[in-house]
Amino acid sequence: MKVDVLVIGGGNAALCAALMAREAGASVMLLEAAPPEWRGGNSMHTRNLRCMHDAPQDVLVDAYPEEEYWQDLLKVTGGLTNEKLARLVIRASSTCRPWMRSHGVHFQPSLSGALHTARTNAFFMGGGKALVNAFYRSAGKLGVRIRYNAPVERLELEDGRFVASNKPTGASALSASRPARVCWPRAASSPTSTGFGRPGARTCAVNGQPTTS
Ligand SMILES: Cc1cc2nc3c(=O)[nH]c(=O)nc-3n(C[C@H](O)[C@H](O)[C@H](O)COP(=O)(O)OP(=O)(O)OC[C@H]3O[C@@H](n4cnc5c(N)ncnc54)[C@H](O)[C@@H]3O)c2cc1C
Repeated sequence: MKVDVLVIGGGNAALCAALMAREAGASVMLLEAAPPEWRGGNSMHTRNLRCMHDAPQDVLVDAYPEEEYWQDLLKVTGGLTNEKLARLVIRASSTCRPWMRSHGVHFQPSLSGALHTARTNAFFMGGGKALVNAFYRSAGKLGVRIRYNAPVERLELEDGRFVASNKPTGASALSASRPARVCWPRAASSPTSTGFGRPGARTCAVNGQPTTS
């Protein structure tokens, strides 16, 4: 089977990657370890998105400037963060909601009285499950091929590019007719292929969905 982009995992990160790749014209296959009823990993439990903004914006009051967001991030991470990447994400948080809306996600303001989150966080209407369902619906409409019950254990790479993925049984789940791009979202369990393993991932504490590490 020919695939330009293989996305492993089926949570928020995976779905955003799949949708953007598809919008850019790539053929996309998404492999979700969970069955359909459990799809979406921990993203099913998420409630809101912290957003930078310099003035009131739809569901957000007041302002939450880049510098304040960055200082908050430094506090919660104890400084263990990459400033360049963090600022990229912080800036994108001010503009990503229209894109999410275009894929069917709805937002609502924080509960009244919750002054801090009313300023900093846009809440997903219907919670994380609604967010994930909207993205799956949009992915289906756009022609992203989705396979459930498809945990990937190992990747075969050639010069850093995807050649084939393997299920725990060792059977090849998917192969590319030519080396392609692969996206392995942060919370998907770590692959063990040469040059692609993340040894540190094995020591992470886990909460949330069973197929999420
Ligand atoms: C209870 C709870 C509440 C939270 N609330 C918030 C909040 O309000 N705001 C916020 O910003 N964050 C919140 N978070 C954190 C947020 O949910 C996560 O950071 C986010 O969902 C991570 O998204 P992800 O796509 O990286 O991972 P996930 O959503 O966990 O997706 C991982 C996906 O990969 C799949 N997968 C795993 N291994 C494999 C494999 N080997 N092969 C194929 N597929 C695989 C899983 O089935 C799953 O679909 C919360 C987390 C929890 C648990």
